[in-house]
Amino acid sequence: MPPTTPLIWRNRFSQLGSDFSTPQPLRPLSEPYWVSRNAALARELGLDASWLASQEALETFAGNRVLRGTEPLASVYSGHQFGQWAGQLGDGRATLLGELHTQHGGMELQLKGAGLTPYSRGGDGRAVLRSSIREYLCSEAMHGLGIPTTRALCITGSDDRVRREEIETAAVVARTSPSFIRFGHFEHFSHANQHDQLKTLADFVIEHHYPACRDAAQPYAALLQAVSERTAELMAAWQAVGFCHGVMNTDNMSILGLTIDYGPFQFLDTFDPGHICNHSDTQGRYAYNKQPNIAYWNLFCLGQALLPLIEEQEHALAALESYKTVFPNALESRMRAKLGLNDDAAQNDDKALIESTLKLLAAHQIDHTIFWRRLCVFSSTAGRESVRDLFLDRAAFETWAAPFAARLAQQDINRSNALMRHSNPKYVLRNHLGEQAIRAAGVQDYSEVEKLLHVLQSPFDEHADIDGHQALADFPPDWAAGIEISCSS
Ligand code: AMP
Ligand code: MG
Repeated sequence: MPPTTPLIWRNRFSQLGSDFSTPQPLRPLSEPYWVSRNAALARELGLDASWLASQEALETFAGNRVLRGTEPLASVYSGHQFGQWAGQLGDGRATLLGELHTQHGGMELQLKGAGLTPYSRGGDGRAVLRSSIREYLCSEAMHGLGIPTTRALCITGSDDRVRREEIETAAVVARTSPSFIRFGHFEHFSHANQHDQLKTLADFVIEHHYPACRDAAQPYAALLQAVSERTAELMAAWQAVGFCHGVMNTDNMSILGLTIDYGPFQFLDTFDPGHICNHSDTQGRYAYNKQPNIAYWNLFCLGQALLPLIEEQEHALAALESYKTVFPNALESRMRAKLGLNDDAAQNDDKALIESTLKLLAAHQIDHTIFWRRLCVFSSTAGRESVRDLFLDRAAFETWAAPFAARLAQQDINRSNALMRHSNPKYVLRNHLGEQAIRAAGVQDYSEVEKLLHVLQSPFDEHADIDGHQALADFPPDWAAGIEISCSS
């Protein structure tokens, strides 16, 4: 069945030519089947619902059929991994189908796990079902939280065997983004002294994604500054919600300031500022509290890569400088909102209140998401008790709560409560929830994936207590602490 509305593909990245990418034949999955489809995103992309249910769609998203108008390719990039220059990397298992023309502008569609590419190096070009479910659910969770991210349209699975620590099965995630260009794309051409290509890439990004930079006195410095500011906003959003990315290598940093490449990520359970979510990160380089500085380090790499275009080092440094004000301001604003304090009535002591709250959570190992969510009802007696119940040390709680209550009393309480309910999600993709969905999917039961997708797409809503939704907002079980997530995916 052909799509009732023909899909319009533009493929502007492919037109950059052979220095940037290689045409990529897709490697079919054996006897693919659906694992999950994201109807909300499909609608936004203008995909017809009946087409998405078709065999043609299944074959398309499994990489078994090439749709007319697409130009599948793998792009080349390089990057710094764990602080070291890693040389050429590239799309080792992601294939860009092309750029779909949608009502929201151009949207690129990539198949992750669609087979070997010229950039696969030692890898097999595949992704396993386990990590595909994590990426699918988490990118939609981030979108639901209002955090800039690539998104995921569907997962197709197959019984094809893939070797990781154990034998697992293969899957393909179809993911979308206005662009999949990473800091590492710029580093690639800069390190190879290919300054013409570097300029082509920068001009491409400016033209399509940062048009305001075109008219700046120094367009490339303006680009660096705009990326720094978006990245700063992204880091503030991650920190406020307790998201740990886990592998902030420069090849995993989006030039659009989006969350990209969901690997060993984790939402904090208890608030531990030094938490390391990636079992392979033995030095803790990407610990939760290091993320903002690492983002700056990565931006510095981007600045260095752009230097042949910016020319004056001081212009690059000035562009990066914006990070140092945008990040703390954005974080403070988000933390204030989490406390129910409106920006328009900010007070000097608010910073101290934010710090004392975070100190309290860390000292008493309080569950991050549950603390903040319960705070939304702190203004009622029962609500305040529900927050207090999280603490064994009641005196420590009361010492913190008294000045907070006084500060909150200066606010319009309905407005504060609403602000908190929109800043403190009830549902996040905790590791154990992903794990439960993965275990069920292992025996072809995808109902947990669907249930999680449903609540995570509107994580600030209460959701009725049907189908076990409320349990998804519970404390993690004891076994959650033993889950080890590594780079293996
Ligand atoms: P990541 O750590 O997932 O960001 O991947 C780093 C680099 O390794 C990228 O160039 C990926 O495309 C590549 N890569 C990761 N896993 C595989 C795989 N299974 N097959 C081929 N390339 C891979
Ligand atoms: Mg990556």
